[in-house]
Amino acid sequence: MNRTSPPTRIFLASFLLLIGLVLSGCSQGGADLILHNGTLWTGDADNPRVEALVITDGVIVLAGSSDEALTHRGGNTEVVDLQGAFGVPGFNDTHIHFGSAARFLEFNIMRTGTQEEFVERVESVLTRLEEGEWIVGGMWGAYDQWAEGSSGGAAREPFRPDMALIQDMTADYPMFIRKFNNAEFAANRTALELAGVDPLAPEAQDVAFELDEEGHATGIMRGRGVAALFREIVPREFSLERRFAQTRHALQEVARYGVTSVSDMSDDTQLEIYRALNETGELTTRVHFRYFLDRWSELQSEGISVGSGDEWIRLGALKGHIDGIMGTSTARFFEPYDTDPNNYGRWRQLMVGEDGELVEGQFLGYMLNADSADLQLSIHAIGDEANSLLMDYLESLNAENGVKERRFRLVHAQVIAPEDFDRLGELGVVAEVQPFHLSDDMRWMEERIGTERSRGAYAFKRLLDGGAILAFGSDWPGTSAAEYPINPMLGLYAAVTRETLTGTPEGGWFPEEKISLEDALRAYTVNGAYSTFEEDIKGTLSPGQLGDVAILDADLFAIAPRAIKDVAVTMTVIGGQIVYQD
Ligand SMILES: [Zn+2]
Repeated sequence: MNRTSPPTRIFLASFLLLIGLVLSGCSQGGADLILHNGTLWTGDADNPRVEALVITDGVIVLAGSSDEALTHRGGNTEVVDLQGAFGVPGFNDTHIHFGSAARFLEFNIMRTGTQEEFVERVESVLTRLEEGEWIVGGMWGAYDQWAEGSSGGAAREPFRPDMALIQDMTADYPMFIRKFNNAEFAANRTALELAGVDPLAPEAQDVAFELDEEGHATGIMRGRGVAALFREIVPREFSLERRFAQTRHALQEVARYGVTSVSDMSDDTQLEIYRALNETGELTTRVHFRYFLDRWSELQSEGISVGSGDEWIRLGALKGHIDGIMGTSTARFFEPYDTDPNNYGRWRQLMVGEDGELVEGQFLGYMLNADSADLQLSIHAIGDEANSLLMDYLESLNAENGVKERRFRLVHAQVIAPEDFDRLGELGVVAEVQPFHLSDDMRWMEERIGTERSRGAYAFKRLLDGGAILAFGSDWPGTSAAEYPINPMLGLYAAVTRETLTGTPEGGWFPEEKISLEDALRAYTVNGAYSTFEEDIKGTLSPGQLGDVAILDADLFAIAPRAIKDVAVTMTVIGGQIVYQD
């Protein structure tokens, strides 16, 4: 009964073809977007370079010559002559913290070195706020000691905001900001008054107010009483409206750098906002959203597993942390830090008991449960012992739950012991690394852990040679002491030159670990798609893949590696829609 006679099949086939023609011919008016006369690196080994793309219904239907592409032109087709410009698949940033980035982007003076710039920043945030809303954040001073891209030394005159300059313009906006290391705070008069402090004769417990010549508060404060003074009045959360505004602003920033996919870890409100913006067609990057590891059972009961969601918002993954970070010398090592013989670093929350001591098997327990629930694991590990212990845990997963394609994401994979590189490959690990960290951390890495251990730091070449899959990202917006911009050019630059932004050390830091531009681009595109089990729908410019493209103002393969950091994105396309154009 299942047999269909040949004539019926032919009839069915022509009927379907007819429907197809009607749909594509009448309702769509040909292709949605044709990009032609370009130089596109596709990431597809079988068809590495093309001149043109045709995108219909969000999907690439042709990657080939301009002549072929232009035959797909219809009444509603947007046709863009790239005039020889270079393009790549939209970048996939596998590691961002969108919620904090959106907040940071709204207002920060982390790199600010002049009062003029400070005033500009304040003017700019005022255009985004409703009267009465708080201006918070700040984080000044992080680049006083270390200039951007420097390899050490005093960089500039220390900066501190002069609150008198913004007093009048912020009269209707309470403002409470901080130095990056919380050593100082600053408030405008409105905020001081709300805190019950008289700006003309300031007084509060455990607060040292800086005074001007007349004995009035300048707004700068020190002392452990400051936090207590403002704790009750500075709102703990932004309003939903403000979160929406921050998100829209940050999405523009993402598009400006050609990023069309991200792996995020933010709060649940952020996920709600993504969903709402997706409904209204305003979501302009694809989001792979990760929950904290201890929420595995909640996801399981909601029926969420690897692959859940759709091409815009993908769920089914968890993120946990096993050790600290280099910046605060808390990453966990087999041997102590060179600068502190008693410090091996420390284990994070789910690793330890209430006494702070390692609880054998506790973290692995979370991993086993999540893995059994078919949730993808991504775990932060920085120090060599942390990375090595995670490899042991992966072996336990294989032993207890069986070998399967987990695409385990080793987040940071920062310092790897020599004997562990091959294990990463054997275990099929995705090394989720942020190459720009290298430009930033090389400033003090060797001083803290010595030359031998530093050889295994950000060792991208050995990670590749060992068989790990490299997936790049930015860690946007960074730490309290460093900004990691989302700009993928900085990551590509770091991976191929291993120099700071000012070009030191000449020839690169442990230059044997440089990787090729081709490998770096793959790490920022197709490997990112692989890391979320989505390489069948994105990551290359080939037919059947989503129409996500970044057009640049230079051919990355034709310029000196050092020039990569200055390349700009001129157009970003997502699902065939142009979402950024300069
Ligand atoms: Zn991070």
